[in-house]
Amino acid sequence: MAQTLFVNAQIFEGTERDLRPGEVLVRGNRVAAVAAPGETLPREGAEVIDVGGATLMPGLVNAHSHLTYNNGTSLKDLTAMPVEEHVLLTMHNAKLALDCGFTAVIGAAAAKPRLDIVIRNEINAGRIPGPRMLACSPELTVTGGLADESQLVQQHPSVSIVCDGPEEFRKVTRLMIREGADIVKFNNSGDSFCYPRMPGQINPMTEEEVSAVVRTAHNAGRRVSAHSHADDSVRQCLRHDVEYIYHATYASEATIEQLARVRDRHIVSPAIAARYNTTYEAAEWGITTDIAEMIGTKRELEEGIKTMSRMRAAGIRVVPFGDYGFAWTPHGTDTRDLEHFVNMFGFEPWEVLRAATVYGAEAWVGRDGTEKLGRVAPGYLADLIVLDGNPLHDLTLLQDRANLLAIMKDGTFHKRFVGARQELRLGIAAE
Ligand SMILES: [Zn+2]
Repeated sequence: MAQTLFVNAQIFEGTERDLRPGEVLVRGNRVAAVAAPGETLPREGAEVIDVGGATLMPGLVNAHSHLTYNNGTSLKDLTAMPVEEHVLLTMHNAKLALDCGFTAVIGAAAAKPRLDIVIRNEINAGRIPGPRMLACSPELTVTGGLADESQLVQQHPSVSIVCDGPEEFRKVTRLMIREGADIVKFNNSGDSFCYPRMPGQINPMTEEEVSAVVRTAHNAGRRVSAHSHADDSVRQCLRHDVEYIYHATYASEATIEQLARVRDRHIVSPAIAARYNTTYEAAEWGITTDIAEMIGTKRELEEGIKTMSRMRAAGIRVVPFGDYGFAWTPHGTDTRDLEHFVNMFGFEPWEVLRAATVYGAEAWVGRDGTEKLGRVAPGYLADLIVLDGNPLHDLTLLQDRANLLAIMKDGTFHKRFVGARQELRLGIAAE
């Protein structure tokens, strides 16, 4: 069995506040041993890689990924793509995610029904590079809900499948499971992107509709995620036991208390960059801060900041990344979220890295928790990245792919160790 021994590393284990010096042995696709500071591991039979004091940490996990989104300016842009080009675009985005250090992603709605599924299958077969991937359905939405772009005068396809009534939701959930989805997503709130039709404070779905999706998916051993800004939407997710709660912007104090009591069952992903960037960085595409205020995006940002700060204090697993793939949140810039969590929600750097690795991995593995992913510890799957510098001192290091000196997924290098950047600059080591 192939063995790789990383030596001279500063280890971020995933759950600890500090880095610690050490060595890590990978055997096959798992971490076999981690040396305590001052100890060494046997070299025999292993490829020894001296990382020169760089940080060795778990790969990043994106629990709210839209690999099928094309950096467009609207949901209509996405559906204007022919399926052939769309498959290739998704393939390139999957490689880009892994290039950026994301060794696992959770699909959070695909732009077309089988796009996530086919890319996941190709990655799993080893034919294209990409993270471990859970494939999602398109968004299931009600007539007039988020991502129903049609009007009576003109039918328009979108990134959703429109369903009304429990029978239609059940049917489409079964159809997506038949086609291979791991996760079924539904929209039980509006969004400022729906302006003026349906703001984020409104929940258009009935109890029976949500129940139909969740029961059908859970009965088949699949998971569910929900676009849920409204307080009522978040409570509905708790009543129906939805694994992945996206946004949760307007969750009240009482709802946060309720969620904290069952925090082991749920992951919250605010996807705050979509609100921040839309409010402050999208003027080039016609969305000035004034417009963002008018349509409600700025309010979603401000309420989201308050809510996530409270959830952090309540010990709820709030995770970074999400909703990258629009013009103002382009793929490959996802790791800016790490800074946002510190600046907006008051996370310590080690806490946001724990959320980006350990919590993301818990989300990926699911509630049965039998697989070990997301930590640098014996028995865990060898999804590892080597970073030039200390992320606890500077989280922006993760924004530059050139700082990733090595990327390993499932014990195999996606990017072989290339030597520290300083050495590259001096011409000492060559790629
Ligand atoms: Zn999303």
